Amino acid sequence: MSADLYFDSSMAGQTDDLQYSVNYADAARHIKNFLEKNTYKLLEAAAEQTARSILQNYSLVDHVRVEIKKPWAPILLPIDTVSVRIERSWHRVYVGLGSNMGNKKENLERALEKIRADETCRLISCSDFIATKPVGFLDQDDFLNAAAEVRTLKTPGEFLSLIQDIETDLGRVRTIHWGPRTIDVDILFYDSFIMHTETLTIPHPEMQSRLFVLEPLAQIAPDVVHPVLKQTVRELYEIAQKPPAVSG
Ligand code: AMP
Repeated sequence: MSADLYFDSSMAGQTDDLQYSVNYADAARHIKNFLEKNTYKLLEAAAEQTARSILQNYSLVDHVRVEIKKPWAPILLPIDTVSVRIERSWHRVYVGLGSNMGNKKENLERALEKIRADETCRLISCSDFIATKPVGFLDQDDFLNAAAEVRTLKTPGEFLSLIQDIETDLGRVRTIHWGPRTIDVDILFYDSFIMHTETLTIPHPEMQSRLFVLEPLAQIAPDVVHPVLKQTVRELYEIAQKPPAVSG
């Protein structure tokens, strides 16, 4: 078994102080204890859970490479060892939240609390809760919107499942498109990933035209660059605020 732990060592380098570094004796003991306490049928599971445990227990570490070797595999061929090697990281996700039914402030707080309670997520920061006018379907109550930064071990698909579970738990009923909702949570950015599948588009395809997304996001992530548009959130927010040019 071997593990490579990656972290920003510049503070440790400048200060010569262990609090800014990872105590590798302690980390090695942690891994040994973890693998003694837990048994897995598959090397894949042992590697996955070990990587997760390191990332969850050593807050400075943002990326790990774990390799677990097994001396003999029952494949009836002259092979000494088999091994599984994986790399796992914390990812930075920005989410947009909105509510316009019931106790809106409480709905946003409960959604954030559920993200915080997930052991594979850390809530890093949250914008103010901002009251906004409805867009699209206008005959409905005003919204309360927010944006939050989350660190997560989840893949984009797993993170989408989490936010959909939160929407269901908080009683969101899908009726009218653009219509009233107890809570809506969208993935705006996931690292600088660009992806488009049937269920998920990242960055969120409409974020650049939505002031109710950009205003709170600009509070917590003004300098984050949109990986497709190559503009910062601050720039996108400024552009979205300008009235459209009138021609003719
Ligand atoms: P809505 O709740 O009306 O914003 O739409 C949710 C649907 O949009 C879900 O079924 C998702 O599969 C899909 N979707 C696509 N891209 C995203 C994204 N970046 N964040 C959240 N939902 C997304």
